Amino acid sequence: MGEKDILVILTDEKERRYIANQILEPDGFEVTTCSLGEVLKYDTQPYDLILLGDIRERQSLVIASSLIEQFPASPLVVVLKPGADSDLVQEALRLGVFACLPPPLRAQDLLAVLTRGLERRRQLQRWADSLAAGKIKAFRDRLAEVEAISQAGKSVASALDLDQVLANVVEAAVALTGAEEGSLLLLDDQSDHLYIRAAFNFKEEYARTLRLPVQDSLAGRALRHGKPLIFGKDEPAKIKTHYLVHALIYAPMVVNGKPIGVLGVDNRQLKQSQFNDQDAVVMSALADFAAIAIENARRYTQAETERKKLETMLREVADGVILIDDSLDILLMNNSALKIFQLDGGGYSGKNFGQVIDHQELIEVIYDPTQDAPRKIDIELDDERYYVAQVTPVEGIGKVVTLQDVSHFRELDNIKNEFVHTVSHDLRSPLTAILGYVELIGKVGETSERQKEYIRRVEASVKNITDLINALLELGRIEAGFDRQREPVPIPVLVQYAVDGMQHLMAQKGLALRVQMPDGLPPVFGNTVRLRQVVNNLIENALKYTPAGGEITISARQEGAQVILQVQDTGVGIPPDDQPYIFDKLYRAGNIPVDSPGSGLGLSIVKSIVDHHGGRLWFDSVMDQGTTFTVVLPAAGIHLEIDTEQPLGPD
Ligand code: ADP
Repeated sequence: MGEKDILVILTDEKERRYIANQILEPDGFEVTTCSLGEVLKYDTQPYDLILLGDIRERQSLVIASSLIEQFPASPLVVVLKPGADSDLVQEALRLGVFACLPPPLRAQDLLAVLTRGLERRRQLQRWADSLAAGKIKAFRDRLAEVEAISQAGKSVASALDLDQVLANVVEAAVALTGAEEGSLLLLDDQSDHLYIRAAFNFKEEYARTLRLPVQDSLAGRALRHGKPLIFGKDEPAKIKTHYLVHALIYAPMVVNGKPIGVLGVDNRQLKQSQFNDQDAVVMSALADFAAIAIENARRYTQAETERKKLETMLREVADGVILIDDSLDILLMNNSALKIFQLDGGGYSGKNFGQVIDHQELIEVIYDPTQDAPRKIDIELDDERYYVAQVTPVEGIGKVVTLQDVSHFRELDNIKNEFVHTVSHDLRSPLTAILGYVELIGKVGETSERQKEYIRRVEASVKNITDLINALLELGRIEAGFDRQREPVPIPVLVQYAVDGMQHLMAQKGLALRVQMPDGLPPVFGNTVRLRQVVNNLIENALKYTPAGGEITISARQEGAQVILQVQDTGVGIPPDDQPYIFDKLYRAGNIPVDSPGSGLGLSIVKSIVDHHGGRLWFDSVMDQGTTFTVVLPAAGIHLEIDTEQPLGPD
């Protein structure tokens, strides 16, 4: 659009053409014409000028005022028709019409008015441009502020070097407020003073020595008020003796509701340069960033210290520790663990557990994707070293394996067992002799009824001791692992044998018996004699510790490569206090009748046999309601395929 666009609104077409062709176009105007009725069609396009004719009455001025409203920057010139009211001129000007030409219309009058109109239009344009430029500058300044604040925010989020972040924040504060210098002061809780932590344009020496008391300084006042303070609007303020400033802002830095320091900027030279509320808002945002950076750094240092402590502890602890992630790759292996598995140096991080650790049993536990609780296993390594390995799943990490050296305890146990074995063995001959002589007493002379009763008691006691000694010797043999012979053993057959041998006793006691053996149960891979002992012992105990009228249920099932046998009774139960010791040798719980036969060795034997078969044994018991013993044993011919190249864990 040119600079002389004019819209001419006239109903008479001849008159319109005359004005356009004869007066305006020769003077360089770009003319658009329309009738009064068509004017609405032209309502979107701004013209430099508008000429409105055909005005005779007051009502016609309505169109003039709507044109002014629509195009406030286009001067409107009104041409009155002959016979128009004389006060129409006044009325038109009052409405805001730029000029009102009474009839008759003369070309030079019209052009003169239009020239003035154009001049007015240009003035308006210039005014609008300068106004817009001012607004755009203010807008750009705000944009730059937002940009700088967001930059400061980014540097807080990304940088780990606190000194650098704080220096950036102070520099941004100075740049955005147009200040001369800036500082970031932190609160020293002990002395209740503020000291400089970062500064911009401050004299080095001054920055080093400045200490402001919280109770008696402007910075302290901002800290105590908890919101930004602008000082120096009226008169210079004294920050410290000999240090006068003309204007300053202090914005407090707050972490978790506690003030930790202030961010400040000031002007010392420029008297006229003051700070405004907008500067305070900017300072407040930057102070928040600084507070976040300081808090982040504090947390990071704290976490790092804790991590280092933990790392040192893990590295130096005597137990072996191996941390693995969810894909069973090693995250950490401490020195003890390296020594235990005779691995040299490091470099195992990131490698798969199965590729580094050569121990099938441990690998099987680690690779068990269903494990959701800590599990302990005894492992034996070369040159007769024994460890208790605990594998614990750790949420969000993977698993942690701790290895405790129990070789020493094993050795002590062996010595003790050997001692017990020797003593038991040596006791057997004198006991046989006692039994022999007791038998002879009756043969060498008359014995009274009373003497016969005593002899019977001696014989029963000697039998008890002999049973105990036999059980001890048996246990010694099992623990020594002499019975290495293994074969497929059908559990239902063992159960049947045991039940056959005890059926009349159960009937005598009025106990109901249920046996649930599924078809197709795979045999267990083990030693027939020993597994028979396991089954016998558990059923015998159920029989012994279940009062008349009770019920015994024996069941078995297969789960993966394992056979699970359960012996459940409705008996007296095992008191919670006794439960931890129930597998200990010679231990008997406090709730069983004093005269109930037994030595407290049965469960030790069962446990030892199950352990030697690579199985697991546990029980659940509720007082006076019953006990369930569960034995898990490896099935014969079914192997868990473990490919150490391809971890079994969840993929
Ligand atoms: P014992 O010769 O005393 O039966 P065991 O070693 O077989 O020795 O069992 C140890 C103790 O465990 C028993 O004395 C008894 O207190 C407890 N116990 C074992 N089985 C059961 C059971 N089925 N119900 C209740 N208590 C039991």
